[in-house]
Amino acid sequence: MKRRKTRQVSIGKVKVGGGAAVSVQSMTKTDTRDVKTTVKQIKKLEKEGCEIIRVAIPDREAVMAISKIRKRIKIPLIADIHFDYKLALEAIENGADAVRINPGNIRDKEKIIQIVRKAKEKEIPIRIGVNSGSLDRKRYKGSLARAMVRSASDSIKIFEKEKFYNIIVSLKASDVLTTIKAYRLMAKKCNYPFHLGITATGLPPLGIIKSAMGIGSLLLEGIGDTIRVSLTGPPQEEVRVGYEILKTLGLRKGMEILACPTCGRCEIDLIKIAKRIERELNCSMFNVQCSMPLKVAIMGCVVNGPGEAREADIGIAGGKKIGIIFRKGRVIKKVREKDLVKALLREISKELGS
Ligand code: SF4
Repeated sequence: MKRRKTRQVSIGKVKVGGGAAVSVQSMTKTDTRDVKTTVKQIKKLEKEGCEIIRVAIPDREAVMAISKIRKRIKIPLIADIHFDYKLALEAIENGADAVRINPGNIRDKEKIIQIVRKAKEKEIPIRIGVNSGSLDRKRYKGSLARAMVRSASDSIKIFEKEKFYNIIVSLKASDVLTTIKAYRLMAKKCNYPFHLGITATGLPPLGIIKSAMGIGSLLLEGIGDTIRVSLTGPPQEEVRVGYEILKTLGLRKGMEILACPTCGRCEIDLIKIAKRIERELNCSMFNVQCSMPLKVAIMGCVVNGPGEAREADIGIAGGKKIGIIFRKGRVIKKVREKDLVKALLREISKELGS
């Protein structure tokens, strides 16, 4: 896949754009002022592989929490600022690795310049985060996608006048097609890296489908440098879905479990087996190795089973209350249904060298 050529910026230790791997980020759903709970949530996200975390900064108390949180986490932290430019200035002073500002609600040019100068002094990037829900529609009329692009472009002009190029752009709408259109238009106008996301997608599975369609379509065109899946649900799920989108497109390596949908030919409880395998593979024993490219196929019968199982690193093809285990295309053994999960996990474990 040919990726769009972009400048590279660094959010803490994570490189964004310029050929770097597309990173997965999320946002905490806790009250940032509650340092203990927020750190606990970030630690859980780190375990899931979250690479960048954003926290909401609604007031000064939240700003003061930034340095305390940062000391206790491993991944870079982005301060999410709306309305009050002073919060952005203080967030940068308090050690945020980047700030996200919304041109829709910080509109005063002089105030924006102050944020830009402070970020320049501390050498951190700013994300110009346009959101369809807070766009200045009196100023930016016409089609929503074009209006979003014009809003981002106006901010970029202000930044560039200050000789500040440490920029990431996002253009999120709740409508998938509008979002795709906006990013496509913006990609023609600048070479800054993009943070991709669809806003307010809702509950899974709808939120997952919208995110996968929107983010996935753009990534397929080579557009996008860091992604955040927004879901009405736990942030860990956002990270998992983010990685699945990247893995599906071959942009990240990792474990893939494929399973047949089952039908009248299936003579084992395949859904139960697949669920157990997935649950087990999410456990800590395997988590560290999850970045290993490993394909596991769980197939119900001899129609497509042996073929898929053979193509995978490890696989099973079900029979009458039994399963045939394949490893790298070779039949390893025939196992009774009740022993299948254990046997399969043993083979996966050997493959992972654990
Ligand atoms: Fe049905 Fe066999 Fe195909 Fe599974 S692999 S859906 S059991 S035909």
